Amino acid sequence: MIHFENVNKWFGDFQVLKEINLKIEAGEVVVILGPSGSGKSTLLRCINKLETISDGELIVDGFKVGDKKTNINLLRQEIGMVFQHFNLYPHKTVLENITLAPLKVRKMAKAEAEEIAHQYLTKVGIPEKANSYPSQLSGGQQQRVAIARGLAMKPKIMLFDEPTSALDPEMIGEVLDVMRTLAKEGMTMVVVTHEMGFAREVADRIIFMDEGRILEDATPEEFFNNPKEERTRVFLSKIL
Ligand code: ADP
Ligand code: MG
Repeated sequence: MIHFENVNKWFGDFQVLKEINLKIEAGEVVVILGPSGSGKSTLLRCINKLETISDGELIVDGFKVGDKKTNINLLRQEIGMVFQHFNLYPHKTVLENITLAPLKVRKMAKAEAEEIAHQYLTKVGIPEKANSYPSQLSGGQQQRVAIARGLAMKPKIMLFDEPTSALDPEMIGEVLDVMRTLAKEGMTMVVVTHEMGFAREVADRIIFMDEGRILEDATPEEFFNNPKEERTRVFLSKIL
């Protein structure tokens, strides 16, 4: 589903991604860990071309992401993304936030888009919030709306960039529960997070990045119990 081959990326003369080789199969849940500034967000954002790769090859669901002729809008329809800050439209209701892209991009009929929005609001546990505005919701509820909004486009891949980092502790669990359910249902997911419990329990694989490189690509067991690199041990000793 996602294949990075010798991908490099520079911001000016700063190399943020170095020789990235990574294959993610359909249905896999891959968690990306690493210190701040190691390139995790940039790697994630390359997948839907919010950032462009400088060289190498990146293929996502058959789309050559680096190729100028690739229809990026079609690619992006296949990929939902959830950010640390929920990025909901403040002046639109929850229902309007969720139906916007299905109506505009998928050209779905309004009744169908609303039906689907209600389905996903039920799935994320807040069916009663359809007509609320984002400011009337807790952070955890807003993030669940953001996930429902991503799912309403029926994506093949969901990307999560620190989806719980801006939440109060008591709300983290409700968002991770929704993500856990998605993972069990077979969604292809790439998740940047500092939630080690989630990583250990839900990930099929852990990618550890440091200074723009992938240093480990391992199962959670291997990663947490027997990391290869000294820098991984240092990282783990700080967070566990
Ligand atoms: P992480 O998500 O692991 O914290 P990022 O991918 O956000 O790391 O950033 C990696 C490095 O690239 C950081 O040093 C950051 O300052 C730098 N960086 C990120 N985005 C840009 C940008 N648009 N222009 C220049 N440097 C950037
Ligand atoms: Mg980041």
